Amino acid sequence: MYDVYVSNDVLTKAEAHFTQQARRGLEAMGLLAGEPRTHEGKPYTFVEEYFTAQNNASSVSVRFSDAAFTELVKQFHENKSKVIVGWMHSHPGYGCFMSHTDLATQEKYFPEPFHVALVADPTKTEKGRMLFRAYKASGKNYRETSYAIVERRMQ
Ligand SMILES: [Zn+2]
Repeated sequence: MYDVYVSNDVLTKAEAHFTQQARRGLEAMGLLAGEPRTHEGKPYTFVEEYFTAQNNASSVSVRFSDAAFTELVKQFHENKSKVIVGWMHSHPGYGCFMSHTDLATQEKYFPEPFHVALVADPTKTEKGRMLFRAYKASGKNYRETSYAIVERRMQ
């Protein structure tokens, strides 16, 4: 049993976005949709979709504009996804961790226990995929959380 299950499609989509942005030396980010679930009383997060809009990015930061938020809300409704379960962003070339800004973002926008932050470094690989880690935050602290990659929607 893992804390987070990530659909393979999510990683493929995010990887394409992150790699494209990394070639221009930029960070990238998107939102994660899916479902908070429980198995025998233990909660876990199922991440089913990655979706994004225009990023305002630099090599060390990324955010959404107001227009991008409008676009994200539209996409979210079109996808008929149930819940925003977190966010995913890239650290091109500088590895996976939660910066102070990342923690502030997590605290402000993703305060629920099922909310997850996935951080990837698209310039590094692990087991044939871009390197990424899953984190959950509690206040000013964060912990790395276990994850598994799943092929398709779990029943
Ligand atoms: Zn970051």
